[in-house]
Amino acid sequence: DSEPKKEDLQQIIQLMDGFKASKALFTASKMGVFDLLQRKPGLDAAQVAQEIKAAVKGTEGLLGACVSLGLLQTSQRPVYKNTDLATRYLWSDSPFSLHGYIQHCNETLWPLFSHLESAVREGTNQHERAFGKKANDLFQDTYYNNQSVKLRFMNAMHSIAKVTGKAVATAFDLSSYKTACDLGGCTGAIAYELTKAHPEMSVTVFDLPEVVEMSEHFHPSHTDNRVSFVAGDFFKDELPKADLYILARILHDWPDEKVHILLKKIGDACTPGCGVLLSEILLNEDRTYSALQGLNMLAQTEGMERTESQYADLLSKHGFGDTRVVRTMNFLDAFLAVKM
Ligand code: SAM
Repeated sequence: DSEPKKEDLQQIIQLMDGFKASKALFTASKMGVFDLLQRKPGLDAAQVAQEIKAAVKGTEGLLGACVSLGLLQTSQRPVYKNTDLATRYLWSDSPFSLHGYIQHCNETLWPLFSHLESAVREGTNQHERAFGKKANDLFQDTYYNNQSVKLRFMNAMHSIAKVTGKAVATAFDLSSYKTACDLGGCTGAIAYELTKAHPEMSVTVFDLPEVVEMSEHFHPSHTDNRVSFVAGDFFKDELPKADLYILARILHDWPDEKVHILLKKIGDACTPGCGVLLSEILLNEDRTYSALQGLNMLAQTEGMERTESQYADLLSKHGFGDTRVVRTMNFLDAFLAVKM
């Protein structure tokens, strides 16, 4: 017992080095390493360095780190290529690419997390410290007043929604719902998955005008016309009529007071039997991913991740019950409640 244990040290090292691994992934992604090696597998470090306009010494270090993280494969010579994992998730144009979310992690979450201590002391998000701008409304003040930041944010949402959309769309039997409204539905990624999974359903995506004006940009090439877009503010404007309201990563952005404003409007628009489908990460202490995502909400938003029973309580105040949950083990869980 007097000697440090190997397993303990391994666990501590892994935690201390987590940020280095994250930043290696973000940097390789930002510098286009996975895109390059997808197009031209088998380059050596000097060739990669030339293509990404970087120093050979720096590139060797980055490529070596990516190999050790399981993102690149190398061989005797040594030349490099993407692993299956990188091919599936890391280059920009793969169908399940997480490139957009990784950019968001690097450009937005990384600076916010460098002020985590202040976030913990103050219990508020850190946009002002990280970016010199106070965020009264996270979306209008922070993400949507600059076109490239807006697109980066939308790409980030889109990438996670595309990877998770099918798991959420198929978590429950939704066959009794013919019209759905995805509130804050952003690029429509989840709406398109819903119409794919439910041939009878049409979906209205309701989001701020700055977002809706970009919808063509994210329009999938093969789809029928069952997804439409309506611009508005879900705190102020009338909500489109629907039998099923979807709230994917919406409630976690807001404190309880604002959640109640929105749920009251949905409750008033619903007749008995109408549904609310939440897609959120349900807070669960056994799952590190959800707890860290809770810190992410603290540093980034006015809101918080919540437990299944917290969501059930919030919804019950507006007449929704008979709640059911599916833990998808994907990025987002699914939660269904029905208007009584
Ligand atoms: N539902 C999408 C998903 O899960 O991929 C996007 C989630 S994103 C965290 C929150 C969305 O809510 C953004 O698309 C944002 O534009 C939208 N939003 C924020 N405030 C809004 C408001 N007042 N009215 C309508 N939409 C709003």
